[in-house]
Amino acid sequence: MITDQIISRGIKNISVIAVMSEIPRHLFIHRSNQALAYSDQPVPIGYGQTISQPYIVAYMTELLKVESHHKILEIGTGSGYQAAILSKIAKEIFTIEIIPELGELALSNFKELGYNNITTRIANGYKGWLENAPFDRIILTAAPEEIPKELIAQLKPNGRMVLPLGPRWTHQKLLVLKKNSLGKIIQEKKIPVRFVPMVKEYIKNN
Ligand code: SAH
Repeated sequence: MITDQIISRGIKNISVIAVMSEIPRHLFIHRSNQALAYSDQPVPIGYGQTISQPYIVAYMTELLKVESHHKILEIGTGSGYQAAILSKIAKEIFTIEIIPELGELALSNFKELGYNNITTRIANGYKGWLENAPFDRIILTAAPEEIPKELIAQLKPNGRMVLPLGPRWTHQKLLVLKKNSLGKIIQEKKIPVRFVPMVKEYIKNN
């Protein structure tokens, strides 16, 4: 089902298509929302957050141009779907989630499914993950209003970063940032997207 959706919308990368047809999206979605697991739309995962739409996951993964030796940083783990996809294509995934309950949910999903090349951390993604930097690729699945400088600093020369950039609760632009061998950043604008905001801090609502 996901395979047909993403191919019909123009995804061409064979390994992205293969991995997305193999990873069961319903395992990253709560029982109460199972009916929506294979529709091409974002689905709530609690705490006001969503699991991304399959097409957008496929498109961002394709834009990242992931290679099997890559070390990747993801900001915004959610329930872990995008990280799971990346873990089947790249060597190592480091993923940061700011909401503790979601970070723990993702960790238990990874354990249950046996994805042992994903390391999770509950923290604020704006600071990146210095102990494991630099990264070949960085992907943001929550939208900042400005490009986080720390993350650019943690990207390798010849690295790529894919992120939604723009104001909260409206459309943002999907961007590809390429860092050349001299450290210069080249920016490419892609499609309009709608992501949850990348927050500066997590304030728990009781
Ligand atoms: N990658 C997920 C998408 C989850 S939605 C998927 O595959 O479906 C984006 C996530 O980013 C949310 O869980 C949200 O809590 C998280 N987030 C928002 N701001 C953040 C920040 N500053 N640091 C880390 N995670 C953040």
